[in-house]
Amino acid sequence: MKKKLPIVAIVGRMNVGKSTLFNRLSESAKSIALDYAGVTRDVITDTVCWRDHCFELIDTGGIQLRKITDDPIAEQARKKALEALEHADVVLFVCDGTVGILLEDRELARMIQKLKKKTILVVNKIDTKVAQEQIFEFDRLGFKPIISVSAQHGLGIADLFDALLEMLPEGVGRPSEQEVGCKIVIVGKPNVGKSSLLNLLVKKERAIVADTPGTTREPIKERVQFYKEVMEVADTPGIRRKRGVTQTIEKLMVKSAFRAVEAADIVLLVVDASEARLVDQELKLAFYVFEEQFKGLIILFNKDDLMDEQKREDLAFHLAPYSYFLDKIVQLRTSCITNKNIGKLMNVVNDVCDRYNHRFSDDELTLLFKEALQAKPLYRNEQRLIVYRAKQFETGPISIELIVGEPKWFGSSQLAFLERVLRKSANLKGVPVRFVTRKK
Ligand code: GDP
Repeated sequence: MKKKLPIVAIVGRMNVGKSTLFNRLSESAKSIALDYAGVTRDVITDTVCWRDHCFELIDTGGIQLRKITDDPIAEQARKKALEALEHADVVLFVCDGTVGILLEDRELARMIQKLKKKTILVVNKIDTKVAQEQIFEFDRLGFKPIISVSAQHGLGIADLFDALLEMLPEGVGRPSEQEVGCKIVIVGKPNVGKSSLLNLLVKKERAIVADTPGTTREPIKERVQFYKEVMEVADTPGIRRKRGVTQTIEKLMVKSAFRAVEAADIVLLVVDASEARLVDQELKLAFYVFEEQFKGLIILFNKDDLMDEQKREDLAFHLAPYSYFLDKIVQLRTSCITNKNIGKLMNVVNDVCDRYNHRFSDDELTLLFKEALQAKPLYRNEQRLIVYRAKQFETGPISIELIVGEPKWFGSSQLAFLERVLRKSANLKGVPVRFVTRKK
């Protein structure tokens, strides 16, 4: 969430295969976009990662060069597309290899060149003989590189990705920088304050950007849009059980909340603290998020303004039995009425995001677990458990492979012990740790 991802815009006249290419690129790469069901979007975007480099892919639709005077909606869409193009770091200018260069292609080319954007000319439909024969014609447009693809058949896509990576701005969207973004989702029962929270965050962001001297109008929009991109609000499953609400709707909602969680890195679970307890579904969701989906988790005890001593005591009493779990989770008291802790929330989220993407060195992990098992040997079947080597094979979530004598002896309590050791040695509050074991 720290840095904006680079923006790659797909541009081209109608019918050259832009949306097929968009789908092909976002499906071939690991797509981590959220599900935007029900949200109107002016342009179609997706976060696409290829070889660990991520960027925001935008399908501008067909860019019309001329003002559309008789259709305000179409004119609006045209403006949006132009805007997306202006913000792009790299342009994928798509032409139709079977048709050759049309006047409209030439006009678009000129416009892109005027904007001085890094551009890849993508000649589509290379699966056809016609396109193969006239590919050289496209040199005349004056772009470099030219990559020929078949969006429909998936030809040349890897080449296109590789060329694209070369052109992305240095350092941005590259995990090696430790600046990888996190997708955030806000979940919770209806009426706990999710929308209020999101509104405050968006407003705050607008204020911050507006206060920065020298910023222009555009960044405000960009940043606010950025939050919308990474945040989605979903009601928790199974809670809206009202008479008359059919099973199907409920099932659909379960799915959408779960899908939202699956697509996220960090989950903000908003609860109404004034109820002085977490209901069953909230607890289940928290477990699901952290222990099964391995997402970062922050629980916001919202409506803190409604709390009194008695309610605080009740809440603490109710939560005590779950401390073994909740102690790992970041918890924050918030109020959307008094703004309590709203100002620092995004910093907390950023910290959790950093921890979620933390990387331990293999030596560090190996030494840590070896020493821990020396200090406190664990036994199964009178055999001493040994970790020969530990290796973090993935980050976001932190995923560790243990090379051991006998994998089946490392059950949940043994792994929980190692997890505690790790948590004692490093601040991993709010982020899960995933272990897999492998026989030496
Ligand atoms: P959502 O369904 O989770 O999105 O909840 P909303 O954001 O629509 O909020 C539901 C109601 O709770 C609204 O009337 C809000 O004004 C109110 N609300 C939200 N946050 C707070 C809070 O921190 N304190 C109090 N007292 N009310 C809040």
